[in-house]
Amino acid sequence: MEPLPRTDLRHPDGRRLSVYGAYDGNPLPADATPGAWPALHLRHDALTDRWVAISPARNTRPQSRATDDAPAPACPLCVGGPELPFAYEAAVFDNRFPTLLAAPPEPPALEAPTAPSRGRCEVVLYTPTHEGSLATLTPRELARVIAVWTDRSAELWSDRALRSVFVFENRGEDIGATLSHPHGQIYAFDHLPSRQHDRVRALQRHRQRHDRCLTCQVVATDGDTPARRVTANDSFTVSVPFAPDWPYEVHVRARRHGARRLPDLTVDERRDLAAALHAVVRCYDQLLHPGAPLAYMMACQQAPAGNDGGPVDDWHLSFEFLPPQRAPGKLKIRASVETAAGLFINDTVPEDSAAELAAVASDADTGDEITFPDVEVVRVAAERQR
Ligand SMILES: [Zn+2]
Ligand SMILES: [Zn+2]
Repeated sequence: MEPLPRTDLRHPDGRRLSVYGAYDGNPLPADATPGAWPALHLRHDALTDRWVAISPARNTRPQSRATDDAPAPACPLCVGGPELPFAYEAAVFDNRFPTLLAAPPEPPALEAPTAPSRGRCEVVLYTPTHEGSLATLTPRELARVIAVWTDRSAELWSDRALRSVFVFENRGEDIGATLSHPHGQIYAFDHLPSRQHDRVRALQRHRQRHDRCLTCQVVATDGDTPARRVTANDSFTVSVPFAPDWPYEVHVRARRHGARRLPDLTVDERRDLAAALHAVVRCYDQLLHPGAPLAYMMACQQAPAGNDGGPVDDWHLSFEFLPPQRAPGKLKIRASVETAAGLFINDTVPEDSAAELAAVASDADTGDEITFPDVEVVRVAAERQR
């Protein structure tokens, strides 16, 4: 086991920062003022029975790309930037532009139900290197990222007020990622977001009717259907799902019943997860036009907490990749039918997409097995106030 030290600090504006790897002891700059988010709240939409987050401060988020009028500003996520003024190997910090807060403001009293925007919004830096992807990280860096996700998930779930820990990545301008430095995010919710709520209902219904795990059935079907398989390993299926919303959608799903969240994974399963994520993103980097990687949304679906506070039954950990591109230069737009009626129209045949992806995967496969180290986070210091 390779220990990954974690040092917890606090920005002067109150945001938490965890530095993974050697920390040189330099203080954070003392010039920041605490963020104020008086307008942040949730509103309940009666007709869809869903919550909407009102978060106007996000409109002031930075861009790291050049525009016609201005060159690209310095990347705020690189070593020496405002978030990380010192060297790091990986890092997690509270988002400067949060939608959910540990201590949210009181919601306004309005004509219909509102609620505090309670939860967490964290940014996860994969590497100090400004360019790259999950496919170009070194095996050690990728193993560290998985260890960091696991560490954060375990800690957030130790807060019983949080029902769902959602690790995700938005990659590429086509999906609205405003910073290109390799990074992802974590949102932790005090309620189940609607898609997770629907999935839990489907699992419960299947259990009541058939007394079996629905996700085990999906894993068996994906595993037994070569026409939708992209690649696979002992611990995970890696397939285009039977009914994908998006062209080139790929799901990486834990085979083992009981592997519901990242902290449930064994050492071998963590290695296999690294191999699967590496393979999928390598496909996306090469699929449409080499040198111009496919944009994607990556959702790590971990079992949310049920009414008893523990992880819901029959959920298997998955990483679900949702790329919006359907052909070079052509974006799949979530238009009226998808957005307002809720019927996704996929312009590709899932088996054809799987064949294309599998061909890229086997072309890219050099036959050399990559060895991912077993990395585990070790806290080395109590939180320091600076
Ligand atoms: Zn950078
Ligand atoms: Zn199962």
